[in-house]
Amino acid sequence: MNQAVLILIKPDGLKKSLTGNILTRLSETKLEIVAAKIVRVPRELAEEHYKHLKDKPFFNDIIQYIQGELHDRKKVLALVYWGKDAIKKCRELAGATNPEEAEATSIRGSYGRITTSGVYENVIHVSSDESEAQREIKLWFGPDEIIVELYPYKKIVCKECTRTAWA
Ligand code: UDP
Ligand code: MG
Repeated sequence: MNQAVLILIKPDGLKKSLTGNILTRLSETKLEIVAAKIVRVPRELAEEHYKHLKDKPFFNDIIQYIQGELHDRKKVLALVYWGKDAIKKCRELAGATNPEEAEATSIRGSYGRITTSGVYENVIHVSSDESEAQREIKLWFGPDEIIVELYPYKKIVCKECTRTAWA
């Protein structure tokens, strides 16, 4: 079954110059990239993204982590991959959440680490299931930024919107 999945290359992945390696690993899946952008992550976006972990003792740490506060890289690379069994394929390649438990050849097993304060710096985010994928993709991307029609959308006519344009 064709699925969409949100992938984030987290700030540690960017700082360690792993973008190419990670994308190469993901290309093994033969899935299609249907959206991609670099994002500076505001706190509200980080908190909404990780809202299922709000009650965890490490919540504040992972908010700082995804915002790039721990790596002096205040950005992530966000992508949407699309194709057959996309979530399972990408989660398998990513490996377990805890990089010490992740298979050694997986992305997290190869490149992740646990910080002295206990945060799993695991270089990549992959949506966990279809409903999370939908929620996350809608959070990180607008319909115009994805080259296929994944979910229903509406047209909004703006008369008094302010937006930037090249001068
Ligand atoms: N995390 C952590 N310690 C934990 C669990 C999670 O530092 O005990 C971090 C880790 O970076 C993980 C993120 O919080 O990727 C989100 O956790 P989740 O349980 O959603 O794992 P994932 O879906 O990323 O494998
Ligand atoms: Mg998760």
